[in-house]
Amino acid sequence: MKVVHSIEELRDQLRGQNRTAFVPTMGNLHEGHLALMNLAHHHGDPVVASIFVNRLQFGANEDFGKYPRTLQEDIEKLQRQSNVYVLFAPNESEMYPEPQNYSVSPPSDLGDILEGEFRPGFFVGVTTVVLKLLACVQPQVAVFGKKDYQQLMIVRNMCRQFALPTEIIPHETVRDADGLALSSRNRFLSDAERVEAPHLYRVLNQARDEIRGGAHDIERIEADARAALAAAGWKVDYIALRRQRDLRKAAADEVVAGEPLVILAAAKLGTTRLIDNLEV
Ligand code: AMP
Repeated sequence: MKVVHSIEELRDQLRGQNRTAFVPTMGNLHEGHLALMNLAHHHGDPVVASIFVNRLQFGANEDFGKYPRTLQEDIEKLQRQSNVYVLFAPNESEMYPEPQNYSVSPPSDLGDILEGEFRPGFFVGVTTVVLKLLACVQPQVAVFGKKDYQQLMIVRNMCRQFALPTEIIPHETVRDADGLALSSRNRFLSDAERVEAPHLYRVLNQARDEIRGGAHDIERIEADARAALAAAGWKVDYIALRRQRDLRKAAADEVVAGEPLVILAAAKLGTTRLIDNLEV
């Protein structure tokens, strides 16, 4: 695996390639990231991964400073366990040599709801860096995790609307044995919080089971899920049952008619904010 830090070196490495598969990450790699890279290798060759903690997508009171940065360990993990051919690990002055004044704004009906409501500016930061990374790597395919469901949808729509030549491929959420979705932020959980954390996934499953059992009172299902987490000490940002196709609310008759839904949640356990979702 070649590790490159500049866009110029990256382009040198990829010259003449026309089936590049790309997996962008913020590092502190876990099995979820490695699974994405594995899937990327089914769709293209060479596989390029990136590690860049993107300041633009962090709010002023968020954890940019304390986000785990473990580049050396990540490189060793990729060398041992992945088919990644080039790792692009730019520093901030390489990605943002001047203030990034041009940006991409997702439409507000997708970018300002759910995660976008609780993290203003988050998706502008995400789409801007993803567009820039796609311009650097120029991949034919890029793999994104369903763990960040809204992000996946926004990136996919951006590529479609700008006619970018990159196909976006989703990967299922990778979980620990107890159901907790793998995340770089899980390392901030205390031992007691780590025991409680899979409760989020259990609550999503309960909601899904209710819908599958014929319930269609969405607001009641959401409220029950919220109450279950609050009772266990979580601070819930949102639990929302939405249509898979556009993340809008589904009407009761759509639920009855079997509209594909997804239940999305974000909640804090202590100071650690976790997100998860489940398709219904
Ligand atoms: P991150 O490093 O957290 O920005 O994530 C980089 C990519 O990995 C994104 O496409 C995420 O959706 C994806 N990802 C993160 N955690 C998981 C997981 N547990 N399962 C599947 N994909 C994941």
